[in-house]
Amino acid sequence: MFDTLQDRLQSAFKNLRGKGRLSEADIDATAREIRVALLDADVAVPVVRDFIARIKERATGSEVSGALNPAQQVIKIVNEELVGILGGETRRIRFAKNPPTVIMLAGLQGAGKTTLAGKLGRWLKEQGKSPMLVAADLQRPNAVTQLQVVGEQAGVTVFAPEAGNGVGDPVKVARDAISEATRTLHDVVVVDTAGRLGIDAELMKQASDIRDAVQPDEVLFVIDAMIGQDAVQTAEAFLEGVDFTGVVLSKLDGDARGGAALSVRSVTGRPIMFASTGEKLTDFDVFHPDRMASRILDMGDVMTLIEQAEKAFDAEQAAADAEKIMGGSFTLQDFLKQIEAMSKMGSMTKILGMLPGMGQIKDQLADFDDREVDKIKAIILSMTPAERNQPKMIDGSRRARIAAGSGTQVSDVNQLVERFFAAQKMMQQMAKGGGMPGMPNLGG
Ligand code: GDP
Repeated sequence: MFDTLQDRLQSAFKNLRGKGRLSEADIDATAREIRVALLDADVAVPVVRDFIARIKERATGSEVSGALNPAQQVIKIVNEELVGILGGETRRIRFAKNPPTVIMLAGLQGAGKTTLAGKLGRWLKEQGKSPMLVAADLQRPNAVTQLQVVGEQAGVTVFAPEAGNGVGDPVKVARDAISEATRTLHDVVVVDTAGRLGIDAELMKQASDIRDAVQPDEVLFVIDAMIGQDAVQTAEAFLEGVDFTGVVLSKLDGDARGGAALSVRSVTGRPIMFASTGEKLTDFDVFHPDRMASRILDMGDVMTLIEQAEKAFDAEQAAADAEKIMGGSFTLQDFLKQIEAMSKMGSMTKILGMLPGMGQIKDQLADFDDREVDKIKAIILSMTPAERNQPKMIDGSRRARIAAGSGTQVSDVNQLVERFFAAQKMMQQMAKGGGMPGMPNLGG
C-alpha cells in the first residue's frame, strides 16, 4: 500500500539532505516533487493544490527554525499535513443510546461491503457487542449466501430473507431485521445493501429508501482504494444520493496508489473510519490518520504494533513490551515471543511492514513468505539466552553455529540480526525524538 508514493516522497526529501538551510528554490523543488508524487498516486487535483500550498507556506514561514534539521522540518510539516488531509483525529463508531445501533453499508458492487459486514461483525464481537448482520443485498446473486458464510466465520448471527437470493423487498428485510434484533437483544445491526457496477439512480433510491426505513446511526460508504481517480466522483455521488457518516477504505493491501485514501476525506468532509487490508476477516482495523501518515512516510507504525501485541498478549506483557520498545531494550527474546503470538494474528509481512524503516527493504519484504516465520523462529531458538538478550555478542563464529543449529544459512542469520538492529535503532530514535524520528539516510 502506498509503495510508490512512499518511494517518491523519500526521494523528494533526500534532496534536502545535508542542507544547512533551505532556500526558496529548495522548497519549490521539493514541493514540485511532492506534487507530482501525489498526482501520480491519483490524489485529486484540488486536494493536491491545497496540500502543496500549505506545505510551501509553512516551510517558508517562521516555523523553520529550532532543533530539527531542514529535511526533518519538511518531513514534519508534510507529516502533519498528511494527518490533516486524512482527517486528523481517529473517528470511532458512535453507538446509539438506545440499542440497537444501526450501521448501514453502502457502495458500488465489489467494493467489499459483504466482506466488511463479516469483518465488522467479528470486530464488534471483540468489542463486547452482540452484532447481527442483515442481508439486504437482494440484487447480486449469492450475496445472501455470501453474507451467511462470512457471518458464520465471524460467529455472528445473520438475518436473511427466507425466500433466499434474488427475491424480496430489501427495505422490508432491513425493517424486519431491526425488530428481530430488538426482540433478540442484539445491540448492533449491520445492514449490507446492494451495489451496482456503476452509479445509477435506482441504486441510490434503494439505498436511500433503506436508510429512511431503518434510520441508521452510521452510514458507512465502502470504497475500493484501487479505483483511483474515480474514487472522488463515486464518493460525491454517494454523498449526494445516500449521504454517509463515514468512509471505509477497502483493498488497501492491493498495489493501490492511495489516491482514494488521500482524497476522499477532503472531498466529502466525511471521516475515514476503517481500513480493510485483505480478504480475511482479521484484515481490518480502525483507521488512524496519524498512523497512516507515518506509514506513508515510512516512519513505521510502532503504535499499531504495540496494539497488536496487546491483543495477542495479556495487557501486562504488552505494557512491558511497549516500555522495552520505547526504551530501546527490546531483545531478540522479546521479538521471538512477539513472533509466536503474532503469527496467530495474520501475515508476518504486514507486521514487519509496520516496523520503522522497513519500507526501505520492501523488495525483501515482498518476497517474505510466511513460512519464513518458522525459519526466524528456528534461528532465534538456536541462540543461547545470552545471545537473544544481547544480540550484539553474536559474532561470526556464533552466527555459523546458529545457522548450523537451525538448519539455515549464515546469510539468513545475518539478515535477521541486521534487520533486528535496524528496527531497534529506529525505535530508539523514535523514543528519543518524541515521536519524530530522524529519518534514516537523511542525516543532519
Ligand atoms: P460487495 O459487492 O461490495 O459486497 O463486495 P464483496 O464483499 O463481495 O467483495 C468483492 C471482492 O473483493 C471479494 O472477492 C472480496 O474477497 C474482495 N475483498 C473485499 N475486501 C477486500 C480487501 O480489503 N482486500 C482484498 N484484497 N480483497 C478484498
